[in-house]
Amino acid sequence: MSRKIIITIDGWSSCGKSTLAKQMAKKLGYVYIDSGAMYRAITLFFLRNHVDWTDTQAVKAALKQINLSFEFNEKSQQSEMVLNDENVEYVIRDLIIAEKVSEVSSIAEVRKFAVKQQQEMGRKKGIVMDGRDIGTTVFPSAELKIFMTADIAVRVERRFKEMFDKNPNVTIEEVKNNLEMRDYIDSNREVSPLRKAADAILLDNTNLTMQEQLDFALKLAKSKKVEPNPMQDV
Ligand code: C5P
Repeated sequence: MSRKIIITIDGWSSCGKSTLAKQMAKKLGYVYIDSGAMYRAITLFFLRNHVDWTDTQAVKAALKQINLSFEFNEKSQQSEMVLNDENVEYVIRDLIIAEKVSEVSSIAEVRKFAVKQQQEMGRKKGIVMDGRDIGTTVFPSAELKIFMTADIAVRVERRFKEMFDKNPNVTIEEVKNNLEMRDYIDSNREVSPLRKAADAILLDNTNLTMQEQLDFALKLAKSKKVEPNPMQDV
């Protein structure tokens, strides 16, 4: 059996982190965790329950009512976000959530709440987690760290196509403004800002196909003595 390590994938919004993380997890027989989905689910709870997130006490009280978990959906073959027994995987991808998530995720109490659970999920290793601070704060001693980037124009186009399929009213300007705003807040917040860990390997996928980026990442895994699971084909 292949060695079990922790693989972290951080980077700018809409770089294809989750696509790569999912493919790697499948190939290696690892668990995939989308840390951004956790921040999105917390934001959904705050919005639905009109939580004033500028008030620390209100945030603490609200977090006590939140239970986050992931469930594997056999049909989509994906692990999906569950908020208090409700599958919210699709609702949390809405632009309404994307517009507020960076504000919510910059709150220290929110980060403490999510990071603790993320660290617990990695206790047994054999995990690929993507996000913004996974290689710097959540798993600073992870064996393999990847930091992803791509040209902003390419990222906007990719995210626009994805969102347009679900909501044809969305405009390219809205998507661009949202990505730029999130990148700005995520990299300038006080707690756990988006940064490339010193020991993370940079992956710029502006001109790479999905197969090329997967091959690159699997080669890195191999260098850490992690071999693809022969039972899995992507
Ligand atoms: O990865 P995704 O784009 O779904 O993440 C949504 C937002 O959640 C990010 O823009 C960021 O504000 C926040 N996030 C974070 N730390 C992480 C993962 C996501 O602050 N580890």
